[in-house]
Amino acid sequence: MPRSQQQGAVDDPQLVTTSEHVRVTVVDVELGAAPPVESGWQDEVRRLARAQDAVILAHNYQVAEIQDVADHVGDSLALSRIAASAPQRTVVFCGVHFMAETAKILSPDKTILIPDAAAGCSLADTIDADQLRAWKADNPGAVVVAYVNTTAEVKAESDICCTSSNAVDVVAGIPVDRKVLFLPDQFLGAHVKRVTGRDNIEVWMGECHVHAGISPADVRDRVAAHPDAEVLVHPECGCTTSVLWLAGTGGLPPERTHVLSTGGMVDVARAMTADTALVATEVGMLHQLESVNQRTRFLPMNAQASCRFMKMITPAKLLRSLREGRDEVHVDPLLAARARRAVEAMVAVGTPSVVGE
Ligand code: SF4
Repeated sequence: MPRSQQQGAVDDPQLVTTSEHVRVTVVDVELGAAPPVESGWQDEVRRLARAQDAVILAHNYQVAEIQDVADHVGDSLALSRIAASAPQRTVVFCGVHFMAETAKILSPDKTILIPDAAAGCSLADTIDADQLRAWKADNPGAVVVAYVNTTAEVKAESDICCTSSNAVDVVAGIPVDRKVLFLPDQFLGAHVKRVTGRDNIEVWMGECHVHAGISPADVRDRVAAHPDAEVLVHPECGCTTSVLWLAGTGGLPPERTHVLSTGGMVDVARAMTADTALVATEVGMLHQLESVNQRTRFLPMNAQASCRFMKMITPAKLLRSLREGRDEVHVDPLLAARARRAVEAMVAVGTPSVVGE
């Protein structure tokens, strides 16, 4: 049975753990040691960026050195919008490939570089355009809602994009009598189903190996060890359903449990006064949270939750990107125009915060 037909499989918190049995195969990337980098590389990066008229963008999950040298740090869609509005002609996107592609879709006339084009995403890889076309053929008339963690080809086949912070608003804006095909993240899809109360949503059973690896057991152990901590959870996490269930049954204080996009986490962290916060997302996020709040101790829900694709971007590759103009990201203009319609449809929903992973 196609993964997409296992509708509602994560509605029951007990089933979250069993979803690991349908986990997608993660492309194995041989990372090896980070290549050596010259001392004073940060100054050289800044000099080259000025000389090349380039702006450097870094995703929240990048290594700390890359975040610190970038012009802007943020989530994928916020960075793509900065790419479109920045005065520079060249954008160096330190993130994974679908993010740089989204920047190209929104800025077709700019040169978009990614320091390593092999930096992929196990979640985006769970569905391709052929699979989506087949799913649509089985569900004529359905509205396709695609999380931004998708390839340009998949966006082009979709009606509207969403991020983790506006997914609920996007789906709530679709007439209740229209079936919705939600892709590709099963945990975000289950969250949307629960909050909207709609039962005519089919969810593609994809997942990110990093977020899915943060398990309900991790949550229970960490919360027991830090009973007074605030809890910040990304809705893609394998623990999200359990966290909400625990909050609803008294296992977690609802007022201290926050399900947020990475951009939302930064906003909440800025005003936080708690001594400790447990963070359920990729560990690179801790650097941003610590940079906006030195009062609170931010601890990972699972210290092993590190995205190997994000960590493929190194200082040496960033230098190479600026010196050699590589790796340039290209998207076919007709495909980009179709994908752009889905992104712009999301922006037209008018949600106050368009941030995602
Ligand atoms: S953390 Fe997961 S969803 Fe994000 S880029 Fe890595 S593999 Fe993709």
